[in-house]
Amino acid sequence: MTTIMTPVESLLADLVAIPSMNPMGRGRTGKEYTEQAIADYVVGYLKRHFVDAELQEHLPGRPNVLATISAGAPDTVLLEAHLDTVHADGMIIEPFKPDVRDGKLFGRGSCDTKGSMAAFLQAAVESVKSPKQLRHNILLLFVSDEEYKFAGAQFAARRGIRADFGIAGEPTQLKIVRAHKGVTRWKIATRGVAAHSAYPERGKNAIYSMSKVIGRLEEYAAKLYAADPHPVLGSPSLSVGVVEGGQAVNVVPDRCWIEIDRRTLPNETTESVLTPVKSLLDGLNDWEMKEPHLSVGGMEVAANAPIVRSLARSIKDVCGDVVVEGAQYATDAGIYNAVGIPTVVFGPGDIAQAHTESEYLELHQLSQAVDIIRRFLTT
Ligand SMILES: [Zn+2]
Repeated sequence: MTTIMTPVESLLADLVAIPSMNPMGRGRTGKEYTEQAIADYVVGYLKRHFVDAELQEHLPGRPNVLATISAGAPDTVLLEAHLDTVHADGMIIEPFKPDVRDGKLFGRGSCDTKGSMAAFLQAAVESVKSPKQLRHNILLLFVSDEEYKFAGAQFAARRGIRADFGIAGEPTQLKIVRAHKGVTRWKIATRGVAAHSAYPERGKNAIYSMSKVIGRLEEYAAKLYAADPHPVLGSPSLSVGVVEGGQAVNVVPDRCWIEIDRRTLPNETTESVLTPVKSLLDGLNDWEMKEPHLSVGGMEVAANAPIVRSLARSIKDVCGDVVVEGAQYATDAGIYNAVGIPTVVFGPGDIAQAHTESEYLELHQLSQAVDIIRRFLTT
């Protein structure tokens, strides 16, 4: 049976068919582990619809795509989504041969977050056909490296983007996420002196030193968790996720390190996260704290902000009701909020489908997302 696809469905199928997996710092190479091909496709797609777009490359093969649609409107909306996906190891469907079954499109990235990309692109190019109806200028931004270090969004923010408010596309099931946590990750190392394990008194055990560090962190994590919760996001958290140390059982270990994952509330900064941990470890010896290798802020947009109210109106028109909520995961929206662009998270698909072995997007939500964004842009 041949399925006749709508324009946004075939656009999504095209996007899914172009691998854009994030190498995630694991040394993977090859065309399918960059965002170059999908960025080129998006530029070509926009060109066919008379929209000029440019590539901004922050690393070889890792560009962002940027396009402005000016309508002489008083304000500008940022429509943003990420170009990259997680890898396709262990998938039980064809990751890059989009398959439509039971009203769903299956493939890597269909839900996270090429569905949002397709909806934003389709709604934008439709609105270009009748620019007089546009109530906002549009800044389209598609970024690389969201799944690993948020480097594309950070690069775009550093280069300077101008918008009055924004929507970052992620699978929210067409709900508005107006607040989410941030994340900071870093390592702490302890140093000791190696010796034969038959003479432990001649050495200094880095694992014993680390156990004291971990003990204090565990107490601190419990305190953090018990503090007054944020009304939407609950408590911040801290978790020691990795520990590594020692070379052999007959050697007193001279080195040990841990990796910490700290989920932050919107008002917390990298510094306000690290300072209390440093003073917590005061009095312990031979530890060293590394600079964070990842730090993305949380965000909160006021419930009555213009972006929340007008997006909610469009969702209500299309879906009948609207949900505004908070989320635990971090997104690019934290970066745009930090540079003064109130940005909410919104898109088709369910986060429960993201990164899974048989990822799919419900096509009904995709067409509703196009309707919602079109209404948002024109009414
Ligand atoms: Zn995503």
